[in-house]
Amino acid sequence: MSVKEQMGYALVCDFPGCGTSTSDLGDYAFWGDISAAVDEWNDAQGYSGDLGDYCYEHTVWSAMDEDDEDDERVPMLYTIENLLVLAERRIRERIDVSTRYAMLRHERRCEAMRMRDTSRARRVERPLRDLAERMVRP
Ligand SMILES: [Zn+2]
Repeated sequence: MSVKEQMGYALVCDFPGCGTSTSDLGDYAFWGDISAAVDEWNDAQGYSGDLGDYCYEHTVWSAMDEDDEDDERVPMLYTIENLLVLAERRIRERIDVSTRYAMLRHERRCEAMRMRDTSRARRVERPLRDLAERMVRP
């Protein structure tokens, strides 16, 4: 057996500043066959065609009407409005992640406090019980 270097294909998003590639989508970094890389890209609802390659985040549905059967993912235009939409989306995601982490930390802290309270109560109850027993006995 020997190790051989081979060519591979990966698609990278053409939206300025993005850099998302097929290797971000799944288990494979590269495909030996370009059509397999394009299929993976399209399965992730990206666009690959005459206008270039655009990841899911940088594509939009072509039709305004959801019931339109010709609806397909098309590249998002590089406009101020779209950049603001992306910025808002990113800020919303950051807030969601921060909120989830804060809730998780809060739950862990509450659990730690409950365990401390339980062990404190046990430490206090035993001597009290012993004392009570000693007082009852003649
Ligand atoms: Zn992109």
